Amino acid sequence: MTVRTRVAPSPTGDPHVGTAYIALFNYCFARRHGGQFILRIEDTDRARSTAASETMILDALRWLGLHWDEGPDVGGPHGPYRQSERGDTYRGYAEQLVAQGDAFLCFATPDELDAMRRAQLARGETPKYDGRGLQLTDAEIQARLARGEPHVIRMKIPADGVCRLQDRLRGEIEIAWSQVDMQVLLKADGLPTYHLANVVDDHLMGITHVIRGEEWINSAPKHQLLYRYFGWQMPELCHLPLLRNPDQSKLSKRKNPTSINYYRAMGYLPEALLNYLGRMGWAMPDEAEKFTLDEMLAHFDLDKVHLGGPVFDTAKLDWLNGRWIRENLDDAAFADRVAAWALNRNHLERVVPLIKDRVEKFSDIAPIASFLLSGLPALGADAFAHKTLSTDDCARILQFSAWTLEALGDWRRDPIYQALNELAVAMGHKLRDFTAPLYVAVAGATSAPPLFDSMVILGPDLVRARLRAALAHVGGPSKKQLKQWQQDFAALRGTHGDNAGAEG
Ligand code: GLU
Repeated sequence: MTVRTRVAPSPTGDPHVGTAYIALFNYCFARRHGGQFILRIEDTDRARSTAASETMILDALRWLGLHWDEGPDVGGPHGPYRQSERGDTYRGYAEQLVAQGDAFLCFATPDELDAMRRAQLARGETPKYDGRGLQLTDAEIQARLARGEPHVIRMKIPADGVCRLQDRLRGEIEIAWSQVDMQVLLKADGLPTYHLANVVDDHLMGITHVIRGEEWINSAPKHQLLYRYFGWQMPELCHLPLLRNPDQSKLSKRKNPTSINYYRAMGYLPEALLNYLGRMGWAMPDEAEKFTLDEMLAHFDLDKVHLGGPVFDTAKLDWLNGRWIRENLDDAAFADRVAAWALNRNHLERVVPLIKDRVEKFSDIAPIASFLLSGLPALGADAFAHKTLSTDDCARILQFSAWTLEALGDWRRDPIYQALNELAVAMGHKLRDFTAPLYVAVAGATSAPPLFDSMVILGPDLVRARLRAALAHVGGPSKKQLKQWQQDFAALRGTHGDNAGAEG
């Protein structure tokens, strides 16, 4: 058997370090066994998937030095490798399950399902699809189909008993079927859900080992059942432990930068980041902390992964990155790498329009533009003192701006300006006052080159990190305050509170 593994990111946001970690372990396992590593784009969620996110993910994984044998960019015998391009493949499989009696049609409207959930909650039950589609007679189904009523296809789930799964690292896992929902496989628009597309593609692409994050364990019963319904051999499952913040909570961008773009913009070396990710739950036989990808490959053993939550600690990463810089880059290589990072013609040409009017001699450049080449600016004790804004005003401006920018899909000057200007108006501040704390957060000073253009050059990840650092500097919101702010922010935007500050 040829080992075939895959990483299957959904292009719905920034390239996450967790994706790189999963990709790295899949890559090492496949290479170690002389097999193939595949990259598949799971973009079945059409509303949230973007081409820009896909480009960033591929770019970030390439930057790290991970190469896939098959994928949307390099092709391969099992393509297309983007689920949105796999056309009607999935519908046929969903219909096959209906014909076999393993799946059924459900015509319930969103309102009807909502009422069902509310009634369940009112009875103190956990909301769950109640199987109403199974009650329909054949004649009713035919009549509704003839009327063209929208419907989905759901999989049948055993009414009782326990699902037993084998996980390479965890051994047998038991999950009661009563906890498993009758999952929608094909949506009303004819598109598959993650579960159907994932199983069908893993099968058609000959995947032998599914190595993914532990957050997918609860999906595994559905997947195992789908393999059984189809009569297919299920790949071996291996759920890797989730990366954690130093406080043991799940790694989240509210506590730690999670985008690979951030680490790239900060000037980490890709080999150091990859090395650090290789230490997440795994160790070299001699416990060496610094190793190359080739060294990791030579010793990789998936069975030695520890399940205790690996901590992604940027202070440790700094230390390791420093070692890589000192020990592996001679002066010429150092110069080359710094040039490739930001001291190159391209980058300079983006900076020049911002500073040209402000310099009288070239030696003025560094003091004015240094914030464009640094990480987090050092902030003095009264950095945010302002003649009209209180500390609370400043903190709110920083947090609301961070939320506004997080929701912004288009990181160009005008959209940034427009979004922040609207926010300033909604908050009742003059733009001049409103931008004062933003200047300090982003550039470390109240007078600096144009703010919105500087934000473009710095990129969303560094800007986000600086806003977060500034917020911490002014003593960020308490839990209670945060709730209030989320409500206020939602009210300003005329939306419901759920999305403010949501992960995504
Ligand atoms: N598309 C899923 C993700 O975004 C893939 C999960 C899996 O590997 O099955 O992580």
